Amino acid sequence: MASLIPFNKPFFAGKELHYIAQAVTLGNISGDGDFARRCVEIMQQRFHVHKILLTPSCTAALELSAMLLELQPGDEVIMPSYTFVSTANAFARMGAKPVFVDIRPDTLNMDERLVEDAITEKTRAIVPVHYAGVGCEMDLILTIADKYGLRVIEDAAQGVNAQYQNQYLGSLGDLGCYSFHETKNFICGEGGAICLNSEEFVDRAHVLRDKGTNRQAFFQGLVDKYTWCDIGSSFVLSELNCAFLYAQLEMFGEINQKRQQIYELYRQSLQPLEEAQLLRLPRIPEDCVSNHHMFYVLLPSRAVRDGLLSHLKQQQISAVFHYIPLHTSPVGQTWGYREGDLPVTEHCAACLLRLPFYYEISVEEQKRVIRDIEHYLTGSARHLEKSTLFETPAEDS
Ligand SMILES: *Cc1c(COP(=O)(O)O)cnc(C)c1O
Repeated sequence: MASLIPFNKPFFAGKELHYIAQAVTLGNISGDGDFARRCVEIMQQRFHVHKILLTPSCTAALELSAMLLELQPGDEVIMPSYTFVSTANAFARMGAKPVFVDIRPDTLNMDERLVEDAITEKTRAIVPVHYAGVGCEMDLILTIADKYGLRVIEDAAQGVNAQYQNQYLGSLGDLGCYSFHETKNFICGEGGAICLNSEEFVDRAHVLRDKGTNRQAFFQGLVDKYTWCDIGSSFVLSELNCAFLYAQLEMFGEINQKRQQIYELYRQSLQPLEEAQLLRLPRIPEDCVSNHHMFYVLLPSRAVRDGLLSHLKQQQISAVFHYIPLHTSPVGQTWGYREGDLPVTEHCAACLLRLPFYYEISVEEQKRVIRDIEHYLTGSARHLEKSTLFETPAEDS
């Protein structure tokens, strides 16, 4: 029996335990200590971000963003439906309504050409999600936001260290949110960060993040006691996690390079199947540099996807599908959304399969995955339908 190829396996860079021990020895294991400072410095410099604050998750960073915007019940926030629940939760829990727009068939990112039509008098913000670490069409999104006076919050959970037009994802909107969850490229168990891309949010972000107090100003000697100043929460990342994260950030180059190799092997090996129109491969627009967060394929139909999924499972390979579109979920439906509202989202969600992807996957393991996909698709090719989505990816128009 072949050994199991998991979908994901957390990567340990090597010095994590060493740095955690160091944090313990230094005596500060809560937040904003030495390792937090070092992580922030690396990222601020590398990503050209005005100010980064580490948070316990990307979910927390998105929630902090929603609090910083002072959203009111009845406000509307434009976002894709093809995303993780946290994107919508963060704004919905402030009473705002997520307004879902469809995605592009080529990148599976929010279709920027549909954003303007979704704007109403109640719209306050746009939340582009950079799926798979490939940038949304930020030029147009930022132009529209400017025209209507809207805020832009990037959900860059998957986009750490990826670029759009030579700028790092997370640094382009008013605010950007990163994730260091163990399923992402750079990890610390659970963790995240918020990018504050202008000075206007900095003071209040510190207060909201530290239980609504001005403790930060107190530590800096700016006030002689700290007190309750705002309705905040506890959004500081523990030093233990920061120490872990620091070991990963030191390995930026290696992690990047390895993921690119894994991605390229899948892409090149599966190219003939795309040419035979048996599946479709992911697209990276020319002005984007991906961080190769994941590798997915789009099959011609849900039936073929589900068939391939169970075939791979029988072969001890864990491939997985991804989001259930939020507009079709029980919560999504409370805003009146129905199946059929967002055809590209629904089609892609039904046809997408993510392949095993992690730092330590071997070439042999990848070849096993590729061989089994070939075997399944060419073996049953006569029965496969060919999807219309294969004919006109948006980037070719
Ligand atoms: C992973 C992810 C999140 C949540 O990140 P956490 O750090 O687990 O809270 C949010 N949005 C997207 C698009 C994600 O992929």
